[in-house]
Amino acid sequence: MRIPSLLFFIGSVAAVSAAPSADDFQLPATPEAFVRPVPYVALERILTEAARAPHVTVTREGDSVQGRGLWLVRIRTGTSPDPWRVFFYAQQHGNEPAGKDALVWMISDLAAHPDKLPEDIELYILPMVNPDGAELAQRRNANRRDLNRDHITLSQPETQTLHRIAQRILPHVAVDCHEFSRDDGDYAERGWISWPLIMMDAANHPLFDPAVTAAALHHVEAMRPAMAEAGFNYTRYYVGGPPPTEARHSHPELDDARNGVGAYGGMSFIIESGQFRRSATPHADLGRRVAAYHRLLSGFLQNNDPARANERQAIEAARSRALPAFLPTNYFWANRGLQIRTVPVIEKSSGRTLEIPSASVFDDLVVKTVVEAPVAYAIAARHAALFAPWLERHGIAFSTLDAPQVVTGEAASLVRLEKHEDPVYQRYGGRTITRVSPKTPVELPAGSLIVDLKQAAAVKAAILLEPGMLYGLSQYEEFEAIRADGLPLRVVK
Ligand SMILES: [Zn+2]
Repeated sequence: MRIPSLLFFIGSVAAVSAAPSADDFQLPATPEAFVRPVPYVALERILTEAARAPHVTVTREGDSVQGRGLWLVRIRTGTSPDPWRVFFYAQQHGNEPAGKDALVWMISDLAAHPDKLPEDIELYILPMVNPDGAELAQRRNANRRDLNRDHITLSQPETQTLHRIAQRILPHVAVDCHEFSRDDGDYAERGWISWPLIMMDAANHPLFDPAVTAAALHHVEAMRPAMAEAGFNYTRYYVGGPPPTEARHSHPELDDARNGVGAYGGMSFIIESGQFRRSATPHADLGRRVAAYHRLLSGFLQNNDPARANERQAIEAARSRALPAFLPTNYFWANRGLQIRTVPVIEKSSGRTLEIPSASVFDDLVVKTVVEAPVAYAIAARHAALFAPWLERHGIAFSTLDAPQVVTGEAASLVRLEKHEDPVYQRYGGRTITRVSPKTPVELPAGSLIVDLKQAAAVKAAILLEPGMLYGLSQYEEFEAIRADGLPLRVVK
């Protein structure tokens, strides 16, 4: 276990007096009463107050690009030895505040009312992953990087901090909080508003343990009645255009936090509440979004949840699971069998809900190609300096050869990067198309790195290092150096 060197407790006088005092933000009495987002200075003050409660601990786990604190709150009311660990984090995108506001309200509420947190839960909350973006009212961080596309490269201090925390606490449940737009583009053109006020989905990479994926999706579905009863339009998360244009669940790649954190083996979720971004007063309904968030997040904190025993068993099995014999390298969302759905939308002029039929709702994740799993990957010595710190950030174990070694390997070379070829995944710069040579003895020089796939992080290592993955490492600028001659070698014996 690694403890960040920056970690300290903020109950100290120095931390309190360092925070600006001019801020006049007051937390409202209820989530519904939010009228403006909690600013960073108020967050520091509220956390300092919360940390006075004996069951609340606040730690500074890292610094943003501009030096703001990345604060982690731990709340624990019981003393049982093996608690159910829940990790909520929010505002990777600075202009998406509702999840963070709900979490700050929850921290303050649980600090004052410890009886509201079941004793078998250990709750961790990182309310503001991107405080610089929040202060600048922008999606990206101060380096102009989209943090929720940085979970493969882990190039930014904010994402590095998030992963250090996830590796240390190994949550059973992790929830990433975002917001989407209800009134953009094609919806606005049709005079519609997107129906959901809030949506949720689970990690879904096809290599993830199927029992854990199924348990998480069960939770997504199980929240429907409670959300309906509370009057919130809620559904599983879809991305894409209004019906009948294409809509699918979120992509299966590892470069967002839902899958990036999900790769540690627990149940991992994303929540998206809907903003009216075209509105002159986009936060007029903030209280409604925060209330929906609070209701949905509270669903993870049930007392004596009967599902928990099965979920715990699935997660523990997943964390000691061997890598499957085959790795999926190309997979996509599809509609098997021409299922026709009706998709609700809201007519803006009347406020009525319309049910629009569509055959382009993609619920089925289809695996198109696979490769045999190797026993290890080898990184050429000349790229060791690039890969070693990166593997460490991901919690992937590796060894360094101190003498040359001959292995049986399949060398991969990059044929091309496809640019904007795939409308389903066009958020990516390109798809990696590789060629793999037949297996042959390969002499690895001293200094080469060996990533053995008999390790706890085997699934993550395989997803990140397999050269045949359609959306692979070589698409990222940080790994440009490996494109010509350095893709990981598939060690097959
Ligand atoms: Zn977002």
